[in-house]
Amino acid sequence: MVTTSGYYTVPMTVPQAASVRKGPGEQSIRYVKGVGPQRLTQLARLGIETVEDACYAAPLRYEDRTHLLPIAEVRPGQTVTVRGRVVARALRRIRGGRTILDVAFGDGSGVLYGVWFNQPYLAQQLQVDQEYVLYGQVESKPRLQMIHPELEQIEEDSQGSWHVGRIVPIYSLTGGVGQRWLRQLIGTAVEQSAELLEDTLPQEIRLQHGWPTLPEAVRALHFPATWEALEAAQQRLAFDELFLFQLALAQRRAQTVGRTKPHRYQLEGPLLSRFLEGLPFHLTASQRRVLDELLHELGRPHPMYRLLQGDVGCGKTVVLMALMAAAVQSGYQVALMAPTELLAEQHARVVQDYLGPLGVAVGLFTQALAPADRRRQAQALAEGKLSVAIGTHALIQTAIQFKRLALAIIDEQHKFGVVQRAHLAKKADDPDVLVVTATPIPRTLALSLYGDLEVSTISELPKGRQPIVTRWLRELERPALYSLIRQELSQGRQAYVVYPLVNEGSASELRPSRRRRGSIGARGRSDRAASQMAKRLQAEVFAEFRVGLLHGQMKPAVKERTMRAFARGDVQLLVSTVIVEVGLDVPNATLMAIEHPERFGLAQLHQLRGRIGRGAHAATCVVISDAVDESVAQRLGAFVQTSNGFELAEKDLELRGPGELLGRRQHGWLRFRIANLARDQGLLELAREHAQALIGQDAALQAPSLAVLRRRLAELRGQRG
Ligand code: ADP
Ligand code: MG
Repeated sequence: MVTTSGYYTVPMTVPQAASVRKGPGEQSIRYVKGVGPQRLTQLARLGIETVEDACYAAPLRYEDRTHLLPIAEVRPGQTVTVRGRVVARALRRIRGGRTILDVAFGDGSGVLYGVWFNQPYLAQQLQVDQEYVLYGQVESKPRLQMIHPELEQIEEDSQGSWHVGRIVPIYSLTGGVGQRWLRQLIGTAVEQSAELLEDTLPQEIRLQHGWPTLPEAVRALHFPATWEALEAAQQRLAFDELFLFQLALAQRRAQTVGRTKPHRYQLEGPLLSRFLEGLPFHLTASQRRVLDELLHELGRPHPMYRLLQGDVGCGKTVVLMALMAAAVQSGYQVALMAPTELLAEQHARVVQDYLGPLGVAVGLFTQALAPADRRRQAQALAEGKLSVAIGTHALIQTAIQFKRLALAIIDEQHKFGVVQRAHLAKKADDPDVLVVTATPIPRTLALSLYGDLEVSTISELPKGRQPIVTRWLRELERPALYSLIRQELSQGRQAYVVYPLVNEGSASELRPSRRRRGSIGARGRSDRAASQMAKRLQAEVFAEFRVGLLHGQMKPAVKERTMRAFARGDVQLLVSTVIVEVGLDVPNATLMAIEHPERFGLAQLHQLRGRIGRGAHAATCVVISDAVDESVAQRLGAFVQTSNGFELAEKDLELRGPGELLGRRQHGWLRFRIANLARDQGLLELAREHAQALIGQDAALQAPSLAVLRRRLAELRGQRG
């Protein structure tokens, strides 16, 4: 059996006391001076509950307060830290009870004003002659000033302490907790406890990379002597986290690859050759290479555990079907699990089209099946009369039994999560498992999420694909969009107008499509918007063409009819909320307009766009949005700029971070305190190499020097999601 373990929470929460004397991991932060019950709740909001948490609470940023710029040298536009005494202040009341507070700060070289709107209470706080550090962006008009600068008082007795005259950490705060207080608290905790922290990094690895010891690194994380020391500390601490995580994955992998599977394939055979010879095109070099790689893996005595990725439209399905043919000609069954009913149906249709005529019996398992049909199908599967079973989660229900399942293929894995993957794999003894992602994922995420899988990548698109030009139009330019559509349709081409689900990426997408009565929900709302749009476009804009509608709440038969009509070209313009899920493949469609693109993630936008540019004609994608939000602008900007899925995935990771990218479920597994998956790709790879090397030498981590590491890993495993 493949292990069913899920992923592990990183970092771990505090382990139970192992010894009588408590280490920083178990010692509550309340034992640090100055922390009372109220502080305790505030600190908990910042994720600081133990002394160890305080030691690992990474600053948001740092300020170099070693040599502060004299005010006279400050230039407008710069974001700087300066130091000055309050020389004068004025609180003005303006209309509507609003206030403006002007405070002049001087440092002997010049004067800089701080300006605060509607914070009259600050006037009491900022007394003349008190000294402050200010951080903010400098404006020169009407005079040298900063609007709402960050502010920190320097007290006479704190010269040379935590707060000035050094590189100073700035932490993120929560209500009631001030910067100075928190810095002092963390500084105290680090001073008291850095030496006592549990060190999981093997000494040899540390020395090999010239990294600081753990106490040195933790001190430098908060109060670095130099920027170089900070960087070395961050590296070492990020590595610690990534290493532990990769070790867990490597251990899990070692358990699966060490096993021997009961089935043996006949890789040369009539079905596979007939399938390949019958294809209406030549495989790309990349498809060929990946197919050979996968066949080679199937031929090995150990179960395959692999991730297949490739940009949308690169032709993964063909490769999957070749593997199916190899398994079926060897007398085995294959399961293909897809995340939605529509995708499962689409897969079944394609596989039936290609493999059906060669005598392969293909069965579709979805919730939509009538109970009697479902029973009949299940029986055929159990008796081995069906060779390929394609379905949704319906496939992993306990009632579904295979006669001789050898290969389990899981499409769009990250919509499922690891648990379902394991359930499918449990339908047989050590089946080969192939996970397919339709969305390219950045290598860092692939390594973290699928660190226990090997990766095969199809890296090129079939020849003759037209590059897709992408444009971002404003609402005002909608007429231009309509004339673009009209132009394509009059030339005999087809077009899509796509509506987003209001709640993209949410769990509701994953539920079986049976609808709860009485609740409209996000899907209902976008379905309605799409229906209205379709009506309007048909009646008012494209009366001479046929406009079709496809949305989530339609009956399967109606959907089917519309999809076929579009595929035949009877419908020229298709308005849809579910275009990605249905995975329509219509090479004659050359234009796609995406409404509310701000509601889609980059990966989804890219998936959508993959529906066009599949034929011989040039294709255009238009996103229409008035969004002014900075992050949306960045996302749409990136989308317009490149059509390479891997580049976009990297960009997406950078813009949104791994949590947003993966959705809530995976987020917990990948929550690191210091490591940052968007930044630390090199370290992650390094951690993986070291982890694999270590597991290769000492799979159970028996060496006495690894005792701490061994225990931490066991704790991690105990908390698997
Ligand atoms: P994806 O990787 O997105 O699943 P598909 O397998 O759906 O891609 O393939 C996209 C389209 O490209 C399909 O119409 C498929 O028949 C076609 N196709 C696949 N491989 C090739 C190839 N080597 N040459 C030309 N067309 C191909
Ligand atoms: Mg596909």
